[in-house]
Amino acid sequence: MKATRVGYWRADSVEAALGALRSAAGSAQLLAGGQSLVASLNLRLADETNLIDINGLTELEGVSDEGDRIRVGALTRHRTLETAPLVASSAPALAEAAVLIAHAAIRTRGTLGGSLAYADPAAELPACMVALEADIVARSADDRRRIPAESFFEGLFQTALAEDEMIEAVEVPKAGPLERQVVLELARRSGDYAMVGLVLRADVEGHALARSRIAYFGLGAVPVLARGAMSALEAGDLDAAVAALAQDLDPPSDLHASAEYRLHLAGVLLRRAVARARAEGGST
Ligand SMILES: Cc1cc2nc3c(=O)[nH]c(=O)nc-3n(C[C@H](O)[C@H](O)[C@H](O)COP(=O)(O)OP(=O)(O)OC[C@H]3O[C@@H](n4cnc5c(N)ncnc54)[C@H](O)[C@@H]3O)c2cc1C
Repeated sequence: MKATRVGYWRADSVEAALGALRSAAGSAQLLAGGQSLVASLNLRLADETNLIDINGLTELEGVSDEGDRIRVGALTRHRTLETAPLVASSAPALAEAAVLIAHAAIRTRGTLGGSLAYADPAAELPACMVALEADIVARSADDRRRIPAESFFEGLFQTALAEDEMIEAVEVPKAGPLERQVVLELARRSGDYAMVGLVLRADVEGHALARSRIAYFGLGAVPVLARGAMSALEAGDLDAAVAALAQDLDPPSDLHASAEYRLHLAGVLLRRAVARARAEGGST
């Protein structure tokens, strides 16, 4: 099979890329790591398009300290999330999630912005953004806006980005001293997209969990916040939290797993995540 025909243009500035995106009026796509886009072109799952290559735009790469937040540029590779000390100390869930993405070769090319814009429901990083209450910084030729992660993911492979906007960066609140972050997933083979995955963030003091956020991935069109389970955890009742998942989640059945099995796995992951958060917080 031959790949879909594409036009190719390499941008030499963010402004030029945004100008080209606006002029194309929907007939162009940004090319970041290419790990999802090129695969879909090769398989002819994507229509003819014009690619605006943003790989030369180094100002979109890297992690910086912004006081109570860290800023991660859209072109930051998954491999950098794995290894950057500032990510490990301020938003460790991103480092843990990055290791779970595909394989090393893919992680050296794939980018944070590409993963969020692609919005695969089984991807790890979108759920991290929701659990950690990150803002997605979207930029167009004449505007810049911050979109809370919870409202950024709108549906299956759909986001709140307008046709002429790119993700410039994300801003993630820094973890406090009591905060523990855990990312767990179950996949049939190492490197596969997850059947079920979870990101837990909570302040842990003794046995108690406060300010907890639980975002599941692989269980719906977008990352799902398990609000009933979050309330039950705040009340210190893990069994009630697991029971609440039946109302919080509406998992799909597919070739890989039935809805009932996915719900069971969601409970298993929650128990494991809470046990780990408590252990890391000094309690067993
Ligand atoms: C075999 C295989 C296994 C994989 N397994 C996983 C996995 O387990 N978990 C996982 O999360 N991912 C997985 N991936 C996908 C991988 O993580 C991709 O890197 C990621 O989804 C997309 O990032 P990218 O930089 O490659 O984006 P690209 O493929 O370049 O682009 C993807 C989409 O995002 C748009 N885009 C890119 N950058 C921006 C931006 N800054 N602003 C707006 N739009 C933008 C593009 O126009 C395109 O529509 C896998 C990929 C492969 C090939």
